[in-house]
Amino acid sequence: MHTKRIFSAFAFTMLTIMLLLVVASRSSEAAAADRQGGVDVSLGAVSPPPTAQGVLPGGKPETEDKTADKPDIDRTSWEFILAGPDNNIGTYAPYVVPIEGTAQYFDERAVGALVEFLNAARSAGYSPYIQTAYRSYSSQNYIYNGRASQIAWPDYPTAEDYAEAALTVAEPGTSDHQTGLGVDITDKYYNSLDASRMDQTFLQWLRENCAEYGFVLRYPAGKEAITGRSEPYHFRYVGVDAAQYMMEHNLCLEQFLSLYK
Ligand SMILES: [Zn+2]
Repeated sequence: MHTKRIFSAFAFTMLTIMLLLVVASRSSEAAAADRQGGVDVSLGAVSPPPTAQGVLPGGKPETEDKTADKPDIDRTSWEFILAGPDNNIGTYAPYVVPIEGTAQYFDERAVGALVEFLNAARSAGYSPYIQTAYRSYSSQNYIYNGRASQIAWPDYPTAEDYAEAALTVAEPGTSDHQTGLGVDITDKYYNSLDASRMDQTFLQWLRENCAEYGFVLRYPAGKEAITGRSEPYHFRYVGVDAAQYMMEHNLCLEQFLSLYK
């Protein structure tokens, strides 16, 4: 009886000691896990949080950086109408008025800006001459068909002849002149559209000053792959804000408008 009680006390003591050892080892594991967790947290603080990725130190997201300062324009407004091989404007016909001192017409809403631009060129000592401004759908159609007939002569023009004509004459509905906002400006004394024979300092003056009056080069050199042509004398009204942005960033109209899609 006495021996049994001693054994029970011994067993109880051993059990208690084992229990304490288990508890102690568990809590040391937990402490180690906490330390591990602490390391993770500090690493997390060193690398940027996921939401901050793609943001420049200035706070501007990288993807928007190039166009963040683009002017606030209404892409659907009349001065941004786009005519080109991929943008046929059909029989679009703006209300046009005569450009004073010429036999040419321009969109009534932009003719004032054009006259100011021309007057500024005169003040700078140049003699601007309007070669072509507005050209209606039917005029363009007439010129285009005439070119195809000329190529096919003496036969009737085929689809191939029309395709060849389109290389030099814009198809009806695709000419910037039909918008009533495009104008070919030459020098009175170099009355030709051969740019190589034009006064280069005059062309340069037009390029450098057009934006102040709301105009841009519609077919700048180096953008032929996008616009389909190069015409250093063809200017286009888009309004002052858009013009200054486009000339500053070397954008053609197609590129500028694509920023607002
Ligand atoms: Zn032109």
